[in-house]
Amino acid sequence: MRNKKLFPAKIKICGIPYRVLYFQSVKAVNANPEGENLEGQISFINHEVRIHQQPVLAMYRVLLHEIIHGIAWEMGITDYISEEHGEKVTDNLALGMLHFLRDNKVIDFG
Ligand SMILES: [Zn+2]
Repeated sequence: MRNKKLFPAKIKICGIPYRVLYFQSVKAVNANPEGENLEGQISFINHEVRIHQQPVLAMYRVLLHEIIHGIAWEMGITDYISEEHGEKVTDNLALGMLHFLRDNKVIDFG
C-alpha cells in the first residue's frame, strides 16, 4: 500500500495541477498501450503523472524525476536543453534531490 502523504493523488507543478496515478505494472505506466514499459511518465497535455509502484525510495526517485520534467517544461528549460541531455540531467537532479530530502530528514522515508 502506498503512503498517500509521500505519494499524493494530486500535485501542483509551477501552479499547474497534475493528477498522479500509480500502477502495479510497468506496462500500464505508459498511457500509450503500444509504447514501451516505463517506470514513470508525465503528460503536459493531460496534466497527468504516471508512476510504477515499487519500494519507496526508488518510487520517490521516479516521482521526483517526473516532477523535474514538469518544472523544466513549465519553466521553458526544455527549450534550450536537448531531449537526450534533458533526460540525463533530469535523472541526476532527481537522485540529487532524493539524497538532499533524505540526508537532511526533510522527508521521512520510513
Ligand atoms: Zn524522464
